[in-house]
Amino acid sequence: MKVAFLDRDGTIIKDYPDEKWSSIKHPEFLEGSIDGMQKLIANGYHIIIITNQYLINDGIITLDQYQQFTQEFLSICQNNNINILEIYFCPHNEQDHCNCKKPKPGMINQALAKYNIDLNNSIYCGDSEADYLLAKHFNLPFYAISSSLDYPDIIKCDSILDVCHYLELT
Ligand SMILES: [Mg+2]
Ligand SMILES: [Zn+2]
Repeated sequence: MKVAFLDRDGTIIKDYPDEKWSSIKHPEFLEGSIDGMQKLIANGYHIIIITNQYLINDGIITLDQYQQFTQEFLSICQNNNINILEIYFCPHNEQDHCNCKKPKPGMINQALAKYNIDLNNSIYCGDSEADYLLAKHFNLPFYAISSSLDYPDIIKCDSILDVCHYLELT
C-alpha cells in the first residue's frame, strides 16, 4: 500500500506554542487539510499520522486530554469520510531517550512492521525539521506545509490540498 505520512500539528490542524496546548480542547483544521486528505484517499493513499506529543511527559497536557482530543479529531475526520489508518504518537520528552520521538524512526518502523507499505510510492508531509529529517531517513519525498524550512530537496506547499495539486491528483 502507498501511504501519506502526515504530521498532525501545523500540518493537518493548527499548532500553538507549547504552554497554550494545556487549554486547547478542540482541533482546528487548517485550510486545505480536510479536502487534501480526501483527495489523497481518493487517489489510493492510506493516511498514517505520526505526531510528537512530548507535552504529555512534560506535564503540559495529560494522556487523557490527548486521547479526548484525538477522539474528537477522529470523529471530525470520520464525518468527512476520511479514514485514518493509524495514529502513532510519541509521549516522550528528550530525557526519556525513546526511539520514537521524531526524527527518530520508531513510529514509522512500527507502521512498517504492521503494514505492507510501499515506501517508494509513499510521501511525507510535515512542517518541522524533525519531520524533514525523518522523511529523509526513509528516503520519502518531503512536502513542507506552510513552513520556513529551507533545504534543496523539500517541496514547499501551502496545505495538504496544495500537495495534491503538486502531485497532479484529480
Ligand atoms: Mg508539526
Ligand atoms: Zn517516544
